[in-house]
Amino acid sequence: MLEVCDVVIETTTRMSTSTKREEEGDWIKLDLHIHTFDDPKDKLDYSAHELLARARRLGFSVLAITLHDAVFDRPEVFAAAQRLGILLIPAAEMRIEGADIILLNVTAEDVEGLRNFDDVRRLRARRGQSLFTIAPHPFYLLGGSIGKRLLNEIDCFDAIELCHFHKGLFNPNRRAMMVAEQFGKPLIATSDAHQLSAFGRHFTSMPRPSPLTAETVLAQLGAGTFTPCAVVFIIMNIDREGMPLSR
Ligand SMILES: [Zn+2]
Repeated sequence: MLEVCDVVIETTTRMSTSTKREEEGDWIKLDLHIHTFDDPKDKLDYSAHELLARARRLGFSVLAITLHDAVFDRPEVFAAAQRLGILLIPAAEMRIEGADIILLNVTAEDVEGLRNFDDVRRLRARRGQSLFTIAPHPFYLLGGSIGKRLLNEIDCFDAIELCHFHKGLFNPNRRAMMVAEQFGKPLIATSDAHQLSAFGRHFTSMPRPSPLTAETVLAQLGAGTFTPCAVVFIIMNIDREGMPLSR
């Protein structure tokens, strides 16, 4: 984890400002790519409520449950999140033309007709800045990774994911970082959690927007493109209870 953190720090100049602001206590933790056992494609063993409980324990303020090809829309879970002071953004991880795309702040109707990237462009034109999209694990050898097609479809994405999985020389995030830099896109660190223990180790941090709503969070993520200090990526090693071991 720290290896990628080091690379991120090296490729940005964000840490001095961000660390200072974090110390001032107005920073929040976000994870915008998480699965639960509601997922129609992958078999998982933890519920959205268990996720919320862990998120609360680890001090997360914003989450997006991104089921494969379905918008997570269980009202009782959104209500439970609200009671815990957690903003849950309605979202999905859709497979479009064989490539995964994270869509944040969407409804089931929004994603129903998405078949190709031109559909995504039309949706983006209709929704404007209230919709936010991320290219997840773009250069990994996974079924849903977009690969070099990202360059052709880059206008469909607001941000690029900094994937949680990297070890030694194997780190396709490096290519993702190059593309992000080339096109001025923010990098968003997520857990893509498929196990509850994976949630909490790889996340994004940002200054707390006021008020804390999907729109203000997404606006601030987008602003990271132009104001690098607005969004930074803090990757921690944590113990089982979520306490930081080192940074
Ligand atoms: Zn995923």
